Amino acid sequence: MWYARLAMSERIVTMITAEAIAERVAELGKQIQHDHKGEPVVLICVLKGSFVFAADLARAIDLPLRIDFLGTRSYGEGTESSGVVQITQDLSKPINGEHVIVVEDIVDTGLTIAHLIDLLRTRNPLSVKVCSLLHKPARAKVQVTVDYLGFTIEDKFVVGYGLDFAERYRNLPYIGVVEHA
Ligand code: 5GP
Repeated sequence: MWYARLAMSERIVTMITAEAIAERVAELGKQIQHDHKGEPVVLICVLKGSFVFAADLARAIDLPLRIDFLGTRSYGEGTESSGVVQITQDLSKPINGEHVIVVEDIVDTGLTIAHLIDLLRTRNPLSVKVCSLLHKPARAKVQVTVDYLGFTIEDKFVVGYGLDFAERYRNLPYIGVVEHA
């Protein structure tokens, strides 16, 4: 195990390497491609945390893809969920009659994704599926089906590969845990 020293009082311990992520993303892309059999799909990238994952995942899927973005906020500056899901930016086009896959960075309590699924279903898509890079089942508050899952992780606050801590660390190419000295 190696770590990067990013601030005097913090270090990031690697949990999932960039190589392991790349391998899993390729597998998820193949699975999505196989399940949709040449049909058009809309990938909905949930901002900001899933922008890196969605960019890699989109390039691992050989289907007629449309990509749209949905802005949400469920965390403040700290590491605890507020439990309140706020839409900060809506989709640019309707999704009625389309197969939709919501791309999430992490399903933690499940509140965000449950809220988004309910919201998107009101817009009459053909189907709504969920693809999440990470899942922390220990913290689930609502039951959510993750159709395509990258990794199940233990209950630790993670950063990197799009995930932040107070807006930092999104650019790390791997998933890590912040340790405070
Ligand atoms: P949920 O509503 O499932 O509790 O949380 C979903 C959102 O909370 C995620 O999309 C992510 O933005 C944030 N989140 C949950 N757990 C973590 C974590 O371990 N690290 C970071 N950086 N964000 C998290």
